[in-house]
Amino acid sequence: MPDLKRSSLAVLKKFYGYDSFHPMQYQVIEHVMRGNDAVAIMPTGGGKSLCYQIPALLNPGCTIVVSPLLALMKDQVDGLIANGIPAAAVNSMQTDAQNRVVLDNVYAQRVKLLYISPERLLEDMGKWSNDIVISLIAIDEAHCISHWGHDFRPEYSQLALVKERFPGVPLLALTATADRLTRNDIKEQLNIPEAKLFINSLDRPNISLNVVGGLSGKNKLRRIVDFIGRHPGQSGIIYCLSRKSTEALAAKLRTLGINARSFHAGMSTSEKLKIQQDFINDDLPIICATIAFGMGIDKSNIRWIIHNNMPKNIESYYQEIGRAGRDGLKADALMFYSFGDVKTLMSFAHNSGQVTVNIEKLNRMQQYAEATVCRRRILLNYFNERFDHDCCNCDVCNNPPDRFDGTTLCQMAMSAMVRTGQNVGFITLIDILRGSRKSEIISNGYDKIKTYGVGRDLSSAMWNAYLLQMLQLGLIYIAYEDNDKLKITEFGNEVLYGKSRVMLSRFYYENMASKKKTPATKRITYVDEDVDASLFEALRDTRTAIARASGVPPYVVFSDKVLMVMAKEKPTTKAEFGTLYGVAEVKTQKYWRQFTSVIVSFLERNSSKK
Ligand code: ADP
Ligand code: ZN
Repeated sequence: MPDLKRSSLAVLKKFYGYDSFHPMQYQVIEHVMRGNDAVAIMPTGGGKSLCYQIPALLNPGCTIVVSPLLALMKDQVDGLIANGIPAAAVNSMQTDAQNRVVLDNVYAQRVKLLYISPERLLEDMGKWSNDIVISLIAIDEAHCISHWGHDFRPEYSQLALVKERFPGVPLLALTATADRLTRNDIKEQLNIPEAKLFINSLDRPNISLNVVGGLSGKNKLRRIVDFIGRHPGQSGIIYCLSRKSTEALAAKLRTLGINARSFHAGMSTSEKLKIQQDFINDDLPIICATIAFGMGIDKSNIRWIIHNNMPKNIESYYQEIGRAGRDGLKADALMFYSFGDVKTLMSFAHNSGQVTVNIEKLNRMQQYAEATVCRRRILLNYFNERFDHDCCNCDVCNNPPDRFDGTTLCQMAMSAMVRTGQNVGFITLIDILRGSRKSEIISNGYDKIKTYGVGRDLSSAMWNAYLLQMLQLGLIYIAYEDNDKLKITEFGNEVLYGKSRVMLSRFYYENMASKKKTPATKRITYVDEDVDASLFEALRDTRTAIARASGVPPYVVFSDKVLMVMAKEKPTTKAEFGTLYGVAEVKTQKYWRQFTSVIVSFLERNSSKK
């Protein structure tokens, strides 16, 4: 084995407790260790940080890490220090004196990793003496440099100056999302045209993908409560479209005994900080948030994400679900979508700066929601990644849609439309089909038309779902310029007059016999089968206690995955504890007693039972 490989693996074991590299990590490490520039594209949780942390530990001097997320810096530095790695940050949250001490330590080569914001680096680097020993400069969240990306940050656009200031220092740009155009932008803007690209699959196979269409109000809430009930004690985020709805949903959940809080940009900084901290510390399991939440969060044990509404594009959706399961353990994503969502988002898109682009993105999102093929295939193909097999971890794969000839059903709906002179929208159309006695129906004489009530066998939710499919399949369209009334397309007319047929995916409405109690559903646990859940919980409690006492988030002590391995292997001695996956040297020293004693008493309890 070449020396570099051997010493990298030794550092990996000593400081992180891991035995091998993830795909692409070592290639990147080797490349930058040879003094070359690189752009690394890896999914969230793919292990980007080690790509610069290992070189930092192997090289003399300091590695600079440029990160836009101030809130994250402290957590990252704490995590490194917990593993015995000298790290520090320079930022506006610290006093000038504190920042000066940090810099003195950097000059004295006592800091291996220095985290800094882009604006701060640009401001300060001119003043730094040339005696400073910098081994590598890592630019995190590098897609922020590109106008093409969905997260452009102006402070990133000056970073080309970094290469000018430190021409001999290798540059490593890292990101989890970069399409072809963004990749090129990163190289160009950072002034590293020769940088080698390392691209890892963006797939997150541990996240299950699920979509539920057509539910609203009570039914949706019931479904959310049921989902949370099947993830007891697990952290999750519910994304909502508006501030008001985050508040309403959190309040509703609390009245049902579920500990949830809302989080949005309209809240005070201190309020937001408190909620974020409680979430990170596992004191608050559930947050109902607008998209503003999650960016600055490095929590590796978020177990699920719910989208209360359809997001506006696939990029946002993928980024948001990507916040779950960073520790590699199972995680669940559930997205709701309804006609109302499409309508709201469509009006946002119409009022946005880039109407055509945004509408196109929205359409792609809707197609995903409506998909009757493997969802992961759609997502990865969307990001220009070839993925040509079914994933077996999405609702479509697990439950292939049952199609039926929906021609008659579509004809019913469209003939009702024709009889109103194509003068109604979704809700009224459903009322007509189901024979509603609403005053609006009666006063317009819609109860007199021949198709009034022909569809009363189907619930509103079902009609909603099928009308949405008709919209998707291009039988009908929404005339936004005419009060969102539904109109029939040319293709729709062919179907209406029996010249074409359509297949629809059958819509299963779970709570059809809605008065019936929902059956006790299986708890979704991410504990492996050969792991005792009570032991795992006991280890988790120990971790929480340690975290509280030392003022760091629980996942900084150990990730859920490490606890899982611990519960499986049940080490009872310091030596056994020290060889565990994910247990660094300093942590062995600090924690072996507390955790092994939990295991020993568990084993005693169990043997006495027998
Ligand atoms: P990213 O920044 O790409 O989202 P991180 O660097 O935060 O990912 O790593 C995600 C998780 O995977 C962390 O808990 C990290 O400790 C772990 N990890 C990284 N590399 C390895 C490895 N080679 N073996 C095991 N776990 C790893
Ligand atoms: Zn699939």
